Amino acid sequence: MFSTEIKVLLQFCVGRLCCIFEGWLAKLCTWLGITTLVYYRRIVKSVENGAGETPTTPTPTPTSVNYHFTRQCNYTCGFCFHTAKTSFVLPIEEAKTGLRMLKDSGMEKINFSGGEPFLHQRGNFLGKLVQFCKQELRLPSVSIVSNGSLITEKWFQKYGEYLDILAVSCDSFQEETNALIGRRQGKKSHLDNLHRVRSWCSEYRVAFKVNSVINTFNVKEDMRDQIRELNPVRWKVFQCLVIDGENAGEDALRKAEQFVISDEEFQDFLDRHSEITCLVPESNQKMRDSYLILDEYMRFLDCREGRKDPSKSILDVGVENAIQFSGFDEKMFLKRGGKYVWSKADMRLEW
Ligand code: SF4
Repeated sequence: MFSTEIKVLLQFCVGRLCCIFEGWLAKLCTWLGITTLVYYRRIVKSVENGAGETPTTPTPTPTSVNYHFTRQCNYTCGFCFHTAKTSFVLPIEEAKTGLRMLKDSGMEKINFSGGEPFLHQRGNFLGKLVQFCKQELRLPSVSIVSNGSLITEKWFQKYGEYLDILAVSCDSFQEETNALIGRRQGKKSHLDNLHRVRSWCSEYRVAFKVNSVINTFNVKEDMRDQIRELNPVRWKVFQCLVIDGENAGEDALRKAEQFVISDEEFQDFLDRHSEITCLVPESNQKMRDSYLILDEYMRFLDCREGRKDPSKSILDVGVENAIQFSGFDEKMFLKRGGKYVWSKADMRLEW
């Protein structure tokens, strides 16, 4: 009994000391580096929880985060694996709070994605977040993945200077194939949009990237000439991925089964394009484990089981707790070259 009281008293004293010195220590840790700050917070948390032990398994650092802040899109790609299951978008101040928390936990790169990120508030919501991440959070890399159809020159004039990389999705250089895939809105040309955005990227000094999903409709295509002409800093080539609840299964909004290709077919495509030096291949397994995906509620999505299992929101439980349920494989992230030259200032581009 007596020893229990002493233990409680000791925990209380340690807790109070932590509170008193927290501000001072946080400043010191920030000065020493963010990793130390993260470690320090974990120790404080373990003391507060009464564990009194230093955690033994390292918490992954959210170095590079993909924030899918909206699920809405103006395209209807048949294999889409982040579909419009909700129309929810966080109020901008809450989104900024979450982004700041991620920065404090070690985030260096943020990628905004969707749905189509330029759809919500005609790109203004996105523009404000891009500006906030570069100007206030001073992140080394701020990027966007978009289908390119809703971007305007005015947007580049207002926000281009805060953006490092813009990736535009393009799966085919034949309009009919894009139509079959659903990679366009009505009869508007996806390729015209792509070329327009490409020239704005040069004009406003934003690094240009292309993302392609290889599927049954484009697996035989030869894209070498068009990719050479576009000259992106990176060409990400994904193998079409099936995710239960998104593009497969009873409740899914898409049926991607008809788009799926084998590993061999994917490899054939890669071999055909092997001379393209900026090509970065992403097999299904790499995609499942090596991305940190945040959904519209700022919940990490764990894709390891072939579906998207959400954590709690980082806004409710903090980054360190939520990231434990992200399924993120930090080693795989590094192995797939997830960390690269991602700040436009370091790319030495000829604009
Ligand atoms: S462009 Fe296609 S793949 Fe991307 S979010 Fe829209 S429907 Fe999905």
